[in-house]
Amino acid sequence: METNSNFLYCKSCKSKISKDAPTCPHCGIQNPFYFEEMKKYKGVDILHYLISFGLAFMTTGILAILPIDLERGYLMFAIFVALYVSFFVLGIILSKKVGKAKKQEYSSLMQKVCEENNDIQAYATWNNIMDSIIS
Ligand SMILES: [Zn+2]
Repeated sequence: METNSNFLYCKSCKSKISKDAPTCPHCGIQNPFYFEEMKKYKGVDILHYLISFGLAFMTTGILAILPIDLERGYLMFAIFVALYVSFFVLGIILSKKVGKAKKQEYSSLMQKVCEENNDIQAYATWNNIMDSIIS
């Protein structure tokens, strides 16, 4: 049984178009299948490093000016590193969580379009491509 369709449906105008189309030839929308959106939730980008660094830096700064008797120097640096790692991991967890919810949202939208066109195979193909993007 053929499990892959070469066609999917545009998220905007719902036209049947090639699954490799970077833009919809009918309505002109870019990234017609939500694939590019999902790539945002995959992996770690430079912003992730910067935000984690900024949060750790600020938190360490606040700790440094508090009137508590913390040994300065190495201890502050250790606290900074621990915070940096924590924020970094937290960011990955959050990003994955949001990505999962987004995938579900896009998935139900695509499923609807495919069902309207009586084309369950296109939906299966869409799911396969989506899974290969986020895994
Ligand atoms: Zn379109």
